[in-house]
Amino acid sequence: MIHIENLTKTFRTDEVETLALRGITLDVAKGEFVGIMGPSGCGKSTLLNILGLLDNPTEGKYILNGQDVTALKEKNRTAFRKGKIGFVFQNFNLIDELNIEENVELPLRYLNIKASERKERVKEALTRMNILHRAKHFPQQLSGGQQQRAAIARAVVSKPDLILADEPTGNLDSTNGKEVMDLLTELNREGSTIVMVTHSRNDAAYTHRVINLFDGKIVEKTRL
Ligand code: ADP
Ligand code: MG
Repeated sequence: MIHIENLTKTFRTDEVETLALRGITLDVAKGEFVGIMGPSGCGKSTLLNILGLLDNPTEGKYILNGQDVTALKEKNRTAFRKGKIGFVFQNFNLIDELNIEENVELPLRYLNIKASERKERVKEALTRMNILHRAKHFPQQLSGGQQQRAAIARAVVSKPDLILADEPTGNLDSTNGKEVMDLLTELNREGSTIVMVTHSRNDAAYTHRVINLFDGKIVEKTRL
């Protein structure tokens, strides 16, 4: 599903140049649940953003589902990503001005799915994530755990092949964190490929394998 080769990413600002990724080679098979660990600033989010076509690498190659997506222009990246990749972030990233049901509906609007089907699929996703009773509430009226469950509903409502999660339990207590990990595990068992960045050894235990990053490179063991 994912094949990357010698990927590098350099961020350049006026004064500084940061080598965030220094030659990453990695394959993720369909149906895998892969964890990415490593100290703060080692490039985990940069790698996840590139995997999710939110950004392009500086050098190297990225093949996604058999297609070369290494250097797509932003417009084409967005089109390619639509409906195929679901994101879950540490800070939930729900839109404050939209209620929960409208937030979850957004990916389906982007796919031009008709209203009646949108309604049905939103209900299904909210039920699945045990948050239907909060459909008409706004994000700020929900607890962190509820917001993250809504964010997962939004990530999966378009039935994406790939779910990318960046420290999904980072802002949650252990009970809500476990609930989120159980949901991700269930989605993986049903066929979703998942790549998840985490700081937590507990969360890493849910994955099939862990990639350790250090200073923009894959290493054998995390050097925390
Ligand atoms: P992690 O997620 O592992 O904490 P990141 O991938 O966010 O690390 O960052 C890796 C490195 O790249 C850090 O040194 C960070 O400061 C730098 N970096 C990340 N994003 C940008 C950006 N948009 N512009 C400049 N530097 C960045
Ligand atoms: Mg990060």
